[in-house]
Parts: sequence; C-alpha cells; structure tokens
Amino acid sequence: MNLATSLDQIKGVGPKTAEQLRTAGLRTVGDLLMFLPMRHEDFTGLTTIADLKPGKVTIKARCEAISTRPVRRGLRLTTAVLADDTGKLNAVWFNQPYRTQQLGGSNDEFYFSGAFEYNYGKYQLTNPSAELAKDLPVQAERLVPVYHSIRGLKSQVVRKVLEELRPLMSVLPETLPESIVASEKLMSRADAIATMHFPKRLEDVTKARERLAFEELFELLLASQLNKQSNQKLAGYHIPFEVSVVKDFVSQLPFQLTNAQRKAAWDVVQDFEKSVPMNRLLQGDVGSGKTVVAGLAARQAASQGYQTAIMAPTEILATQHAETLDRLLAPFGVKVGLLIGSVKGKARTTLYEQIANGKVDVVVGTHALIQDKVEFHNLGFVVIDEQHRFGVEQRQKLLAKSKGSVRPFTSSQSVRPGESRPTGLESPEIDARIVNGSELNGRTPHDEPALVQGLLPHLLAMTATPIPRSLALTVYGELDISVLNERPANRLPIKTQIVSPVSAAKIYEQVDKEIATGRQVYVICSLIEENPDNEVKSVQVEYKRLKNSVFGHRKIGLLHGKMKPTEKEQVMQDFKDKKYDILVSTTVVEVGVDVSNATVMIIENADRFGLAQLHQLRGRVGRAEYQSYCYLMMSGTNKPSERLREVEKSNDGFYLAEVDMQLRGPGEIYGRMQSGALNLQIATLADTALISRAQKAAKRFIEHEDIGSYAGLNERVRYYQRLTTLN
Ligand code: ADP
Ligand code: MG
Repeated sequence: MNLATSLDQIKGVGPKTAEQLRTAGLRTVGDLLMFLPMRHEDFTGLTTIADLKPGKVTIKARCEAISTRPVRRGLRLTTAVLADDTGKLNAVWFNQPYRTQQLGGSNDEFYFSGAFEYNYGKYQLTNPSAELAKDLPVQAERLVPVYHSIRGLKSQVVRKVLEELRPLMSVLPETLPESIVASEKLMSRADAIATMHFPKRLEDVTKARERLAFEELFELLLASQLNKQSNQKLAGYHIPFEVSVVKDFVSQLPFQLTNAQRKAAWDVVQDFEKSVPMNRLLQGDVGSGKTVVAGLAARQAASQGYQTAIMAPTEILATQHAETLDRLLAPFGVKVGLLIGSVKGKARTTLYEQIANGKVDVVVGTHALIQDKVEFHNLGFVVIDEQHRFGVEQRQKLLAKSKGSVRPFTSSQSVRPGESRPTGLESPEIDARIVNGSELNGRTPHDEPALVQGLLPHLLAMTATPIPRSLALTVYGELDISVLNERPANRLPIKTQIVSPVSAAKIYEQVDKEIATGRQVYVICSLIEENPDNEVKSVQVEYKRLKNSVFGHRKIGLLHGKMKPTEKEQVMQDFKDKKYDILVSTTVVEVGVDVSNATVMIIENADRFGLAQLHQLRGRVGRAEYQSYCYLMMSGTNKPSERLREVEKSNDGFYLAEVDMQLRGPGEIYGRMQSGALNLQIATLADTALISRAQKAAKRFIEHEDIGSYAGLNERVRYYQRLTTLN
C-alpha cells in the first residue's frame, strides 16, 4: 500500500464506499490523506446532563422528542428533548429542520456539542452539533475531526477509512524546503497531516494548521515574487513622454481631472518610458473616471506611432468606450475603431485591414480582439477594462498580438488534477478553444508558464472591484497599482435606502417626482422569465407590472442578456437618448454602463445580490452633478442582512471590499477577480502576520536557493505563477 494505491484496495472499503469517495474526487490513498477536516469538534468537555454548567458543553444523550415549526417568515424553529441517565434537557435549532429527520424516531445515542445557555426563560442547548455516538472512533471522547460531507459521504466513513491508513502518515514526504521548515520552526508535513486527522490536543491542531497555511501562502508568495522577477527581465516599448501632447489632451477635456486621475495618468506615462513593459493595475471605484486615464495614455502612445487595444467584457461597454474615446481623441486625429461581434461583413474586413495597416490607432472591442484574424500594425499598449472578467489566457493572447512578442503558449494542463476552475465569468467558448489547442496557431504548447520572449506591450488592467490590501499584497504582489480613491469634484454621495415591501408605494411616488424633473431610472431584477417557484421578479413581469400600474404614464424600456447584441445596444442607446424614463433590466447593466442623466437605481430582491454586485449596480447612478438615489428593495419583511446594511451605510467601494472579505472570505472575491482557483484550503488571507512571515521566507528562498532543485514545489509554484500573473 502506498500513496498511489486505489482506495478500493483498502480493507473495509466496499464498492459502495469507494464509489462515494470517488464522487467526492477521492480516488487514491494520497487523495484521502490530503482531504483535510474543515474543523474539529471538541468533545473534551464531556459531561452529564445533571452536571451541566453554562457555556460550551458536550453531552452524550438520546433524543426523546423533536419537532420543527415555522415561527415567522424565514425562521423555522426545531425543538427537542434530550435525555441521558442523569436527566433531561431542551435543545433548539434555528433553521435546521433536517435535525428532525436526523435525530427523531431512534433510540441511538448522539454526542451533542453546543452552547448551554439561558434563553427565553430557561436553560437550553442552542444549535448543538450532533454526531451519532456509534460512528465516532472509540477513543473519540475528545477532539474529533469533521470533514466536508460531499454527496452522501459522511464524516464517519472518512474517519473509518483514515484509521486504516494511519500507518502511512509517516511516509508523507516533506514538500517545503527543509531550510524553511527549520528556520520557521514548523511542524513537518507528515506530522501536520497526521495531527489534522488524529489530533490529541487543540494546541497541536493549531500548530498543524499553521504549518499547512504557511505552506500555501509561501507557494503563493513565491509565485508572485518570481513573476515580478521575470517581468523585470522582459523588454518593453520605449514610449517617450511628450508634455505638449498630454497638455493638449487635458486642456480639451470638458472637466478637470481629479488629483487621483492625474497621478494615475502620470504613473502610466512614466512606465511607458521604461525599458520593461508596464504591468499596472488601475483600481478605481465605480464612477471614479478610469476611462479618461486610459484615453490619455492611448493619446500619448498614438503620438509616438503605437496602437492601443482596449478590451471590455461586454458589447455595450465596448461600444460606449469607443464613443467616449472617439470624442476625446478625434480632435487630435487619433482614429478609434470598434471591433465587436455585431460588426460584420465588409465593415469587419475593412476594420481588420485598418488595424493591420495602422490606419486605426485605438481599437476597442470585446473578446473579438483576440481572434486569430486580428493583426496589429504596431501594438504598444493594451488596456483590459474590468480585468477580473477575463482569464489569464485571454489577456495573454491580446498581449501576444504585438509584433515583437513571441509567446510560448501553454495549454491549460497546468491546472491541478481534480481541480475545477470557475469559468462562469469567462467566455466558455474561448476557453474551450484554448484548452483543445486549436488556437495555438502553430506555436508549440509548452509546460513552462507563459513567460514571454521579445517585446511585450505595456499593460493597464482596470478594475472597479477594489482589492483588499492583504489580497493585493499576496496575489498581486508583483503588480504596480494605481488607485483612484477620489470621485470627480462635482459628485454628491448617492443616497441609499433599504426599502421593505410595505414602503414601496411611497418610494415609487418619490421616483416619479424625480422622473418629472427629467431624470432617468434603472430597475434591476435578477431573472429574465418568471419562475413560479420563488418570489424573484423577472424583468418581463416587472416591466409589465410597472407599465400597467405605477408608471403607466412613463416610457419604459426593457433590457436583458437574452436579447441580441444589436437589440441591447439599441435599447441602451435609446435610454441614453432619453427615449425611456425607466429601464427595466437584468444585471447586464452592471458593468461600467455610463448614462449620467440616470439618477435612480432600484434593485428588486436586493437581498439576493452580493455586496460587491450591489455596489457595482449602484455605481450606474451618481455619475454627474445631480443628487442620486439607490433603493434596495427587500423580498420580504425579514430583517435586512448585514450585507445590505453595509451597502446602505457606505458609498466607499474600498471599505465595502474589506467588509465583503470579512463576511465571505477571500476565496469568493478572488474567484470573481480572476478566473482560476487559488485553492487555499487552510490559509486565510486575513492572517496578515502569517502572510508577512511567508513573504519574508519566500524572499530569502529566492535569494539563497534554486527552486529548480525542488521539483514538487517548482511545479506548484509555476501553477500559481500562471494563475496570478496579469500579463
Ligand atoms: P469608471 O471609473 O466607473 O469606469 P468612467 O470612466 O465611466 O468611470 O467615468 C464616469 C463618468 O465620469 C463619465 O461620464 C466621465 O466622463 C466622467 N468623468 C470622468 N472624470 C471626471 C472628472 N474628473 N470630472 C467630472 N467628470 C468626470
Ligand atoms: Mg468603467
């Protein structure tokens, strides 16, 4: 038996268990050893009911009676009577109706672990965990690991099989360099994993977690530092700074740049002059004016004969950018082209020609930009708007459009086995083509990360999803970052209000008055068609409802993702041209849409949206000098979530990003920021002390050792390098 042994060879693993393990992605002994518990149940305080004292307790008892009833909307209460030989006790669970099935109607003993406290006039056990006593290891009346239950695979099954594998724990190889294990006084990997599965004391678990978390962070930070190092070795285009060009551009703007915009633009044009390609992230809250910063830089590049490519995630956005930039750049003879799916036939061929012969200076587009047919004359500057919407490959393919750049493309095989990459935000079609290699275009697939040879264009990645500092330091440690932390001076803070269904009518009255003064309104719903099973309003139904009742006298438009691109554009254009007072839409307007006359954002079923998304949606208003409003309409009369209350309280995207990370953990935020999985199982990016330790260790390692002599580490770090690089 070794780490590669198939689990069905293990004593006690029958076909059924093997199948269950397989569906959870666990095939080999090694897989199971690395299937770490999510937490440990502390049974060390085991007492009898008669001896209970207030606080966290564990008892071994039977369930004599149990029932669940609805208390009010959104709250179901389960109550039970528990008994052991010394007495009886009441237990309650909130919104855990499955407890009735788990515990009812049997005479089995369970371990209950939870808070014994005084509530509603009596002592009771609140929200205790419950584990069938006979399923727990014999000696387990202390610390018991709890595993994620995946598709019917229960903790006790995992524990039982692991018991069989216990002798193997000691052969687990060390994966960190020994020098680091020693200097950081870390547990060995074998000990750490054994401790996670068979813990004796809580202190040991803490040490084991620290070791495993350190390793994850160390690899991540090593990758980020190596990326930075390899970026420093690349050659970029030298684009000299021309004061007069920038001055002329700024002087014809219809507004004054904010100091933050000035600073960011200055960062960019300075990077243009360096011999290494720029690798810069422009973080600016919604409405902070990122586009004009990109426009200024594009103007500077064009003045020196370089083309700019600007890639945006949606056609609406690309179209809007093309219009904005054309307005800003046409006076200087800079030609802007728009390349999106709906540009077809002769127009498209002509555009391809103009891009290839340099007649078009600035090309704005969607994914269409990275197709093989698109060839640039002299691409020197690449802008990715809403960069988290794109995958690494997509960014790299655009950068590779530069004449001087020779990129050894990698296929996506460097994704770890068994790992699913969230691809929801990417174009699945493009991803698939990259995976099956049909777009490798004659270049050989290569196992190294896609480090580039030759000249690489300057890269400006823009995002309105502010990245919490700890995340920026770790994942994006290699990047230079510019921040637009200042709104244009003419803006009033948006007034945000959570609205319960009973107050909706009053809000509509106010909104109608706002329309009467000439302003426009967005109404956002989360689904396209009505789903009778839930209360989510669809755009279609909401559209009809508003038309037939409250806003019968107003002009209402409808926009959703299932419409054809040309239809969508037409509707957006009509909304811009004030042909509608109200636009009922799905979240397709979420990203970047800019209609400055719109001052009211109504979000239906606001409780169903994530915090960052709410903030993004709200950012569609408040884009000019008018007072703007955002109404967060609740689905029911429940207490609003903390998420909603934070959005109501604050207009500051950077603050909200921190809150979001606290509430949901960095994994999800990261997932939205960049496709790919960070795969942090143990580490949390909130652990800044450990991050800083790992950062220093990674630096020392790079200085003193050669990663090439650590095969396993090298492979994993390369994976992270590809995952976190921008270019
Ligand atoms: P975002 O950062 O969300 O992409 P945009 O670039 O779309 O923001 O800019 C939002 C709006 O603010 C646009 O209408 C733009 O013309 C305007 N704007 C940008 N900078 C300024 C400024 N310094 N003063 C006034 N308005 C500005
Ligand atoms: Mg934008």
